[in-house]
Amino acid sequence: MIFIVSGPGGVGKGTVVARLLELDDRLWLSRSWTTRDRRPGEPADAYIFVDRPAFLRRVEDDGFLEWTEFGGNGRLYGTPVPEPPAGRDILLEIELDGAAQVKSHFPEAVMVLIVAPSSREQEARMRSRGDDEESIRRRLLVGAEEEARGRAIADHVVVNDEVERAAGEVAGILARHRARPAAPGSC
Ligand code: 5GP
Repeated sequence: MIFIVSGPGGVGKGTVVARLLELDDRLWLSRSWTTRDRRPGEPADAYIFVDRPAFLRRVEDDGFLEWTEFGGNGRLYGTPVPEPPAGRDILLEIELDGAAQVKSHFPEAVMVLIVAPSSREQEARMRSRGDDEESIRRRLLVGAEEEARGRAIADHVVVNDEVERAAGEVAGILARHRARPAAPGSC
């Protein structure tokens, strides 16, 4: 199964996903490629950090499930074609354009949209993790529009009012989808 956790920037997707991975050991988190610089203090394995030519070579080789340009400055992000270990479900933590691409190719993928309780909260989160003022301003501007776009394609919407509660809610959603009988003709 493919599970997508998506949402506007600064809603706390990453924190919810980190907790979700602790709650659910059947999940296998895909590691994305990006051309953006590593942030101060960010773990080296948060992404596969590559330069633009390397990213575009992988695009030409059809090596991505989805990819997109996000956040201005021509930064590219992409999900490599996943190779999960047997018996594990794929978890993607990606922005909305990528989520829409995955949903259009794999309609059975389950998408959970994470939203912030308020835009004030979202702004505070981005500032506390060290985002620069210009990108905070830009993300808030597009945040409301992104949320509306996300709601149109999401299977579930979860408010990240409290990480433990939100991660628990997502875990419950995934468990219910796994328990559903497979659709006729699917494998
Ligand atoms: P950040 O630069 O803050 O780590 O990530 C910016 C946005 O890109 C976040 O919304 C994150 O979820 C999203 N993102 C991370 N990896 C991918 C990916 O492989 N594909 C897409 N479409 N978005 C991604």
